[in-house]
Amino acid sequence: EARPPRCSGCGALLQTEDPGRTGYVPEAALSREPVICQRCFRIKNYNEASTVSLDQDEFLRLLSGIGEKDALVIHIVDLFDFEGSLISGLQRFVGSNPVILAVNKCDLLPKVTNWNRLRNWVQQRAKELGLRTAEIILCSAKRNQGFDRLLDTVSALRGSRDVYVVGATNVGKSTLINRLISDYSDLEQELTVSRYPGTTLGTVSIPLDDGHFIVDTPGIVYPWRYSELVDRRDLDAVMPSQPLKPASYQLNEGQTLFFGALGRFDFVQGPHQSFTCHISGSLKIHRTKLERADSLYAEHRGGLLTPPQGEAAAKLPEWQRHEFRIPKGSRSDVFISGLGWIKVNSQEGAVVAVHVPKGIKVLVRPSLI
Ligand code: GDP
Repeated sequence: EARPPRCSGCGALLQTEDPGRTGYVPEAALSREPVICQRCFRIKNYNEASTVSLDQDEFLRLLSGIGEKDALVIHIVDLFDFEGSLISGLQRFVGSNPVILAVNKCDLLPKVTNWNRLRNWVQQRAKELGLRTAEIILCSAKRNQGFDRLLDTVSALRGSRDVYVVGATNVGKSTLINRLISDYSDLEQELTVSRYPGTTLGTVSIPLDDGHFIVDTPGIVYPWRYSELVDRRDLDAVMPSQPLKPASYQLNEGQTLFFGALGRFDFVQGPHQSFTCHISGSLKIHRTKLERADSLYAEHRGGLLTPPQGEAAAKLPEWQRHEFRIPKGSRSDVFISGLGWIKVNSQEGAVVAVHVPKGIKVLVRPSLI
């Protein structure tokens, strides 16, 4: 029986198992003709983008066509998880096409943030990570900030190009797409998701009123982020929903901070100094002695140390230790992808170590704020 296995909208392989992945279609909708995946269905009928995800390799394959096209690329990243959500391989694929870097979730930073300094930081950091940006827009999908500037920039740079929107999962891409749809497409007309034989799989081309397209790509799954590791329930504790309230700890060497049962920060060596945690307010920080840390974790994860609660704590991958030497006189963040960062204001230098589930990205960077 020759049922077409692909969505007639975006071309993704159809599947009925996982609503979060490309090509998902509910069992019941398989009998519709032509068969269309849920994501295309929603865009077509409700003008509403939804989140589907794709692995890194598949994603880069999908992107590989953009370089030959005349495109404007909007790369949306999560400011709270900057290094975890930046697509560092992007430059290779986009070729000479301009990239607008939309830095979302700016509402999470304290109100007193120096935004010019932040913009410079982003530009510098993106460059270090290999991405040239035509423009950097600080925005908040949640507070509806920065979007007017983003749309102005898109209009200025778009010319007659199609607009590709790329990003990791959970960065706020659907919100952005929906905003682009409402600004650029003619809502009097029904949106059509057309079929483009041979176009890259999993992308949805949304026609605009000028004959060009917004191309929504699936969100990339980066396995090194906490948001991909913890379950839904714990995601609320890990991803901050309120502006960060930095919490400073004056530590002596040989002291440790636990972030629930999700991770741990050791002050291994150096003079008494201050460490400022920028993590979600709903994550409990527990201070203890380094020499007690291993046994505390073994006995109390999922109990005194939560989240995760109970059994779920034991299901996380085994912890891996990352040690860093923070140079004298530097202003550095010890960054943990998806969990936040610890700012080290080090006059005298320090040796610190981070313990997190194996695979989580940890690095030291110049401090963000
Ligand atoms: P997508 O997976 O990239 O499409 O992202 P979503 O639009 O589904 O958003 C992912 C998560 O981030 C949701 O929990 C949103 O509430 C949250 N989120 C999106 N935009 C913002 C923002 O500007 N600020 C904050 N604080 N959270 C946001």
